[in-house]
Amino acid sequence: MVVKPRIRGFICTTAHPVGCMKNVQDQIQHVTSRPSIEGASNALVVGCSTGYGLASRVTVAFGCRANTLGISLEKEPDKQRTGSAGWYNNLAFDREAFKNDLFAKTINGDAFSTEIKHQAIDVIRNEMAPIDLIVYSLASPVRIHPRSGEAFRSSIKPIGKPLQSRTLTLDVLRDKCDVADIDLEPASNTEIASTIAVMGGEDWGMWIEELRNAQVLADSCKTIAYTYLGNELTEPIYRGGTLGRAKEDLDRVRDVLNSDADSAGIEALVAVLKAVVTQASTAIPVVPLYFSILFKIMKEHGTHEDCIAHMYRLFGEQVYGTPRRLDDSMRIRMDNFELDPDIQSRVKAIWETIDSSNARDLADIAGFRSDFLKLFGFGRPDVNYDEDVDPQFIVP
Ligand code: NAD
Repeated sequence: MVVKPRIRGFICTTAHPVGCMKNVQDQIQHVTSRPSIEGASNALVVGCSTGYGLASRVTVAFGCRANTLGISLEKEPDKQRTGSAGWYNNLAFDREAFKNDLFAKTINGDAFSTEIKHQAIDVIRNEMAPIDLIVYSLASPVRIHPRSGEAFRSSIKPIGKPLQSRTLTLDVLRDKCDVADIDLEPASNTEIASTIAVMGGEDWGMWIEELRNAQVLADSCKTIAYTYLGNELTEPIYRGGTLGRAKEDLDRVRDVLNSDADSAGIEALVAVLKAVVTQASTAIPVVPLYFSILFKIMKEHGTHEDCIAHMYRLFGEQVYGTPRRLDDSMRIRMDNFELDPDIQSRVKAIWETIDSSNARDLADIAGFRSDFLKLFGFGRPDVNYDEDVDPQFIVP
């Protein structure tokens, strides 16, 4: 079948297998063309199929030559419908790892469940050596709690008072954009608690507990989870909102893991990452407008990084390098380029004047659109999108 992008808002329901494969190959090329990193030997990546999780996996596999086990929840293709982008990314990753004599296995299932944690433990026990790195990179709208069976849904809302702000609406296929006003009501206490249940640290802690009880962790082992802080413009919807509350909970779990006598030998880290276009980040109101202004300024400064460049710097310079750039809350700060005062003052000046008529001049709308299409394997000049492709693709 001929696979074209089918997009509504910031959701794309198709993915191009060949484009996804080439995206993964580009990430591998980014890492293998740079110095190797002395680091993990056996890594588990939870949320391995797209965005920062995929880039983490590529970095530790091809940068450290680590064996990797990946966990993600992706849609399988059938004869009529394509799989999700993450499905094809996983296929490409596993195939490239195999070609490079690296052990790689990927489990497709709900990482929040006890069943998938046990499946992962079986693979580690039977096919890998003890794990010395666990990357926790999940972004999900829902979680079924493994003990109570309760379904929690996250809300992306401000806390305390309503938010009036602006965002970018983009008709990706017609390449039309608008700067639109948005009004968001504050979250209820239940919505705040549910968001913490989905995107907070409880499940990260449960993974470590299960792995530790199963004795599949190496004597000296690191685990890292990812967070975002942003600036004053994104503060009401991110840092000061429901998502920010959930992310604060990661710090709590990190501190428990680092002080818990049962977890001796485990070093838990939280890293504040930069803004990048992913399926998760485009779902957050305000963010697309802030990101597209930010990218324009960061590109002009020569400091813009995509997922793979950012993860290569994280692992090489901070996780396995010294000195660590830690803030008062002991988080690794990878957003140092994004929050550079010069960059931020220019972003804020543009924010004051941007509207639908000047958005293309003042923000990197083309870059944002191209990043979005690329998430699903589209928009690559080296792929013929008119050619037939089997959705049940086998990576050559
Ligand atoms: P993403 O949407 O690209 O990736 C999410 C991953 O989670 C995918 O691999 C998906 O398959 C997996 N997943 C979702 N639900 C699952 C489930 N129930 N079971 C198994 N796997 C599941 O998102 P991302 O932006 O790369 O986010 C990863 C982390 O990075 C998040 O913690 C996010 O908050 C953080 N972060 C993102 C940004 C950004 O700008 N994108 C910035 C800073 C921090």
